[in-house]
Amino acid sequence: MTGTLYIVSAPSGAGKTSLVNALVQRLPDVRLSVSHTTRPRRSGEQDGLHYHFVDADTFDRMVREHAFLEHAQVFGNRYGTARGPLLMQLEAGQDVILEIDWQGAQQVRDAMPEAVTIFILPPSRDELERRLRGRGQDSEEVIARRMREAVNEISHYAEYDYLLVNEDFEQALDELMAILQTRRLRFASQRVRLREQLRELLGSL
Ligand code: 5GP
Repeated sequence: MTGTLYIVSAPSGAGKTSLVNALVQRLPDVRLSVSHTTRPRRSGEQDGLHYHFVDADTFDRMVREHAFLEHAQVFGNRYGTARGPLLMQLEAGQDVILEIDWQGAQQVRDAMPEAVTIFILPPSRDELERRLRGRGQDSEEVIARRMREAVNEISHYAEYDYLLVNEDFEQALDELMAILQTRRLRFASQRVRLREQLRELLGSL
């Protein structure tokens, strides 16, 4: 049995990273894929844990070698999902989450139509702006650009299988968990997971 691939997209300010991190803590047997990026490391970020931080030459070489399942330019930096490690995890029966933007989601959907795609929305424009303002240290111009980028990401909502709104964090987390748990109860997964139990239940019938 292969694991399920989940794609989670959202505009920045929707709380995607916090939700996905909480999900991975609560639900066993689901892993977060670690992307490659040319973006500089932010303080507190660890190479190999948050991202694989690489230079533009390394990224280009990986593109030429078809090492990426998907890759895209997001806010001036390049991001990509390495194909090899992801396929190994899925083949080992592991569920994997990709936290990627709409461009990457389109490429993965084309390559692996069985992937389950989830889009997280902020509750309103006002609340999104409030979250994007953060600690209030950015110029109006920067805030306006972030809002435009967020609205552009949101405009792709209809391409996803599931939509959820992160107004109340715990509720959004419960909803996200429900999507994964329901997938795991599907016949195709359960038949393999419950093989011994089914054999015992059916006895010599
Ligand atoms: P950040 O630089 O703030 O961590 O991420 C910025 C954006 O890049 C987020 O919207 C995130 O979803 C997207 N992103 C992160 N990793 C990947 C990736 O591997 N592929 C694609 N297409 N987008 C990514």
